[in-house]
Amino acid sequence: MIPFELHGVPREQISYGAQKVTDGLQAAGYQAYVVGGAVRDLLLKRIPKDFDVATDATPEEVRRVFRRSRIIGRRFRLVHVMFGEEVVEVSTFRSMIEAEDAQTDEHGRLLRDNQFGDREQDAARRDFTANALFYDPSTQEIFDYHNGYADTRKHLLRMIGDPLVRYREDPVRMVRAVRLSAKLGMQIDAATAAPIAGMKNLLDNVPQSRLLDEVLKMLLSGHSVECIQQLRKMNLHHGLLPLLDVILEQPMGEKFVMLALRNTDERLSQDKTVSPAFLFAALLWHEVLAAWNLRVQQGERPVGAMHEAMDEVLARQKEQLAIPHRHDAVMKEIWLLQQRFEQRAGQRTFRLLEQPRFRAGFDFLLLRCASGEVDQELGLWWDEFQDASAERQAEMLQPEQAGDKKRRRKPRKKPQAAAAEVTAA
Ligand code: ATP
Ligand code: MG
Repeated sequence: MIPFELHGVPREQISYGAQKVTDGLQAAGYQAYVVGGAVRDLLLKRIPKDFDVATDATPEEVRRVFRRSRIIGRRFRLVHVMFGEEVVEVSTFRSMIEAEDAQTDEHGRLLRDNQFGDREQDAARRDFTANALFYDPSTQEIFDYHNGYADTRKHLLRMIGDPLVRYREDPVRMVRAVRLSAKLGMQIDAATAAPIAGMKNLLDNVPQSRLLDEVLKMLLSGHSVECIQQLRKMNLHHGLLPLLDVILEQPMGEKFVMLALRNTDERLSQDKTVSPAFLFAALLWHEVLAAWNLRVQQGERPVGAMHEAMDEVLARQKEQLAIPHRHDAVMKEIWLLQQRFEQRAGQRTFRLLEQPRFRAGFDFLLLRCASGEVDQELGLWWDEFQDASAERQAEMLQPEQAGDKKRRRKPRKKPQAAAAEVTAA
């Protein structure tokens, strides 16, 4: 037990909701602690993303204590307790299944670990020592079974138990080691790092959706650039996910993609929102451009070619990248706006400003300017135009080209392309 006098983390640093949950459970006679990443982050003087609570109450018992709560999850059942905006995730202590009962696949991956246990068992099934600390807000004490307090103070990320066994049980822990060390500036302990090179093939065996979750956490961690560098250093980047290969192996797009990631990190550090769709749109932009160029060279009209290129790239990436369909619409809107930024004449210019996706499209344009793909002048023009007075806007507009209107009335050979132009206009 590490007393407050030693660790110095006061109860006030725990979120309102997490205090309510631990107080409520303790008042009902249960044990309850703040656990995992939040305790680690507070010791590292960082602001936790969220607060998780662990308890010896079963999910049903937790539900009975808090009216505004619901049970979620199939693999392990958790309870979400709601306090206004805040959601506190409450898990019941779990135990590692004894070796002979464990259900694993042929590579040793755990298929089931949802047995209830006690506090000590719950600590042992967690991944890193820094993630296995239990903070009691009522006494301000920390319970530490694996030397996690000392490791955290030393900025050392160390696997609990035998790293070989723990990676075999769950290969995603290798990726977590990379992500957490990059995000928190922690050194991966030598024995924890050593087996990764030889075991990375085990990741092939993990469901794509779980890997995508981890990769997204990396890209949206606020330290995506460090994560990518760390992945390269550990030689983990190949085949981890096709999405990452796209990022790391794009000759033309690399500068653009790294700028997009840096920009994402910066936005997160300023507490601005970032949308996964924007990020995906950036990752795939140079593929879309290449497909579009090819079509235009083959004589297709630019706007129609853009629609075809987008669909082609999305269809191809869908199979490989596991990017969820729900982001398609926004990605396409962002891409389509790029063509429309080129046109700086007539009413269309004003209509563009009213587009709900204008801001995202404009941010995307600025990245293209910064990467050298398009002239800086275009970004500067839109930067000024969107906030300019009506007179200044009128001055800035380019004269409409004589052919513009006439061309639009001409009947189309390809109905699909015509429809595309109407949407784009
Ligand atoms: P973050 O700050 O990114 O949320 P975190 O450590 O809190 O990092 P979560 O995914 O929120 O990560 O997990 C919460 C806790 O659950 C971890 O601190 C760890 O104790 C435990 N945990 C998560 N994933 C695993 C895993 N694959 N194996 C063992 N324990 C895990
Ligand atoms: Mg967490």
